[in-house]
Amino acid sequence: MTAEETIEQAREPGHPVPVSLSPSSMGTFTSCPLAFRFGYIERLPEPPSAPASKGTLVHLALQYLMWRPPAERTLEMALSDLARAEADVAAHPEFAHLDLTDEERASFHSDAEVLVRRYFEIEDPREVTVLGVELRVSAITSGGVTIRGIIDRLELDANGELVVTDYKTGSAPSEGWEQKSMAGVHIYSLLCERMFGRRPARVQLLYLSKPERIITAPSDQSLRGVEVKTNAVMQAVRQACKRDDFRPRTSALCNYCSFQEFCPEFDGQPELARPTLVARQAEREGRPQLPLVFA
Ligand code: SF4
Repeated sequence: MTAEETIEQAREPGHPVPVSLSPSSMGTFTSCPLAFRFGYIERLPEPPSAPASKGTLVHLALQYLMWRPPAERTLEMALSDLARAEADVAAHPEFAHLDLTDEERASFHSDAEVLVRRYFEIEDPREVTVLGVELRVSAITSGGVTIRGIIDRLELDANGELVVTDYKTGSAPSEGWEQKSMAGVHIYSLLCERMFGRRPARVQLLYLSKPERIITAPSDQSLRGVEVKTNAVMQAVRQACKRDDFRPRTSALCNYCSFQEFCPEFDGQPELARPTLVARQAEREGRPQLPLVFA
């Protein structure tokens, strides 16, 4: 789970109820309530995953690139920023505990470089008027629900209008999943409008692997839809916490789910998830595992 997805929690009868939602946590709950319980209610430690870590690395490299004066945002500088990002994150558990062979490690780094190179096929970063990167934003909906998120990049277009950009390092969505991706994007429009007092003219997703740009223009209707949906999701989360009713819902996402071995849909036992994942985390970090036995 990334920092963007960190959720504060308040004690209530049943499971603790999150006091805020993020685009990621809302997406997880609507895709699979059980995965939401494991990840966002129980906050079980997930093993580092190469695709997620690669995404973190490329985001950081592009962040460094955007800190540069426009004229310096060349491919050569971007590759140098990627090398800097690799050095900066090397000791972080998300990277240090990746269980990769030498060959896998080499492709991890070459894939990250490919993503950075493909970014340049989507746009010329020298033409981007950056206002901020990695902006932590939050807003409260009409129903009193706090939404938090991180905007990868906020910029001004040639007409002086705000544009929100989100980098995607996974594969571009198929037609069916595109709608789901755009649902998250409209949340960023709402966050931008509330935080900066202006609605963005566009929100764009840059799918680096393709490479492809998907653009949407927020409207009164789409922002109203975000509020209605967020309020409804939080209501459903509260009910699920109260009743301890988080049902698994299978989909293509199961192939990427860290909790699959504990999922009843895959003959797993949910009650084993916590002790198993906590013990594995302790082992990865070289910490003694409980219970300790003293002679
Ligand atoms: S494996 Fe699929 S159904 Fe089971 S918890 Fe994960 S996402 Fe949900």
